[in-house]
This record gives sequence, C-alpha cells and structure tokens, in this order.
Amino acid sequence: MDRRSLIGGNWKMHLDAESAAALASDVAAAAAGITGAVDLAVFPPHPYLQCVFKAAGGHLLVGGQDVSDQPEGAFTGQVSAAMLADCGCQLTLVGHSERRHGLGETGPVLAQKSRQALRCGLRVLLCVGETLEDREAGRARDVVLEQLRGGLEGVSTEAISRVDLAYEPVWAIGTGRTAGPQEAQEMHAVLRSDIEARYDARSAARMRILYGGSVKPSNAADLMACEDVDGALVGGASLQADSFVEIARAAARPEQP
Ligand code: PEP
Repeated sequence: MDRRSLIGGNWKMHLDAESAAALASDVAAAAAGITGAVDLAVFPPHPYLQCVFKAAGGHLLVGGQDVSDQPEGAFTGQVSAAMLADCGCQLTLVGHSERRHGLGETGPVLAQKSRQALRCGLRVLLCVGETLEDREAGRARDVVLEQLRGGLEGVSTEAISRVDLAYEPVWAIGTGRTAGPQEAQEMHAVLRSDIEARYDARSAARMRILYGGSVKPSNAADLMACEDVDGALVGGASLQADSFVEIARAAARPEQP
C-alpha cells in the first residue's frame, strides 16, 4: 500500500506568539511548492494553537504536543482533546519521550490519552523509543513493543486507522546522533508486524510510522528511502522553515492517481 508521508514539527517550549505565527505562515507558503504526497503538521505550544491554526491557513495540520487523559473537570493545567479540536487541531502527540521519561507517563495513562483523543475525532501520533541503556542491554525491541501495546490498549480496529506512530530512540533526540537507516528500518518493521498481529494486515499496511531523533536535511533522504519509514517527527530542525520544508521535500512520495 502507498502511504502518504507525514512530517511533524514538534516546537516544544520554544517561540512566542509572533514568531510561532510567522513560522507557521512561512512553512505553509513553502509547503505549497512541494510536489508529491506528504502531509505537514506542526505542534506548537498550547497557548499558540489558535494563532498558528490561523496563520497556517489550512495548508498545515496543527496538533497538540500533549492531551489530557480526562474528558473535562478539575484538572488544573491540563488541556482536553475536545479543547484541542476546538482550537483547530486535527491530531495530537501522545507519549513523547520528554513526557514518558521526564514526567513519568506510562502505558495506562497514555492509552487513556490515545482513547480520549480518538473519541474526540483527533488523530494520534503515538511516540515510542528506547533509552541508550535499553539498547545497550539488548532490550530495545521489547521496550518499544511494550510501549506500543501499552499506549494502544483498548484502541479498536476501527480507531487504529487514525493512529500514526513515531519511533524516536531517546538517545537520538536532541543529541545530534541519529539511528542509521538500517536501525530505523528494523524497528519500524517490528512495529508494523506487531500491528498486523494485534489488528490486521490492512491496518498495518496503512499505518504511517515516522522516525524521530536529530532528523536534518542532511540525513532525511536516506532515512525516508527506507521501506517502512513514512516520514519524520522533527524537533530542532522544525524551528526553521527552510530546514523543515527541505525535510518534507525529501519525504514526499509520488502522488497516486
Ligand atoms: C523530538 O523532539 O521529537 C525530536 C525528534 O527532536 P530532535 O529532532 O531535536 O532530535
């Protein structure tokens, strides 16, 4: 199956309202010149979602960096899936490593976040990835599969069509170190075959699996050439319109008739 690529820019806790809107409009303008099948998404800090949504003018997908596991109520500081949708978001990250490892979020909470988001009509970009310690101990595959299964607990076969994955080895995020194309391809194939075993072949073939971890214009083409790499989740290089759009160009696939 031919999958449309997805390139996501995770802006983390960077920028201000003016620079976020300017970046969104620069990316949107440049994205219009890309030929080929690729979706571009940006994940601004929550307070800037609406201004970024307006600046993107419908040319970019806009997503939350995180979502509450609760539908509404007395949860100070949290942002619900319905609120994200209300601000124009079409998707949300779930389980980024800075939340898993920095804030201790684990399987049951992440699955609840995924289900909340899907229930509110958002797509989910579920992030998984092992630490350097896991990799060196030879347990990268087991850790990543546990995160995958944990984060999708209770997600139906119907809803799985609105889930994309991002494989982001923690040792490659923000470090300048990237998994080689072969390492990325191997893990992506493991993830896809687990989706096939737990859901079905169609769901597995349709699922986009992004790579994340120090992706730059200089390494994007080699990673995107891998059969099971369907795009990238980009941190640092997404803060400059030029580099982000160059990565998107490398990921664009031939348009299907
Ligand atoms: C990320 O935060 O998801 C990420 C991949 O960051 P960077 O590209 O900076 O490594």
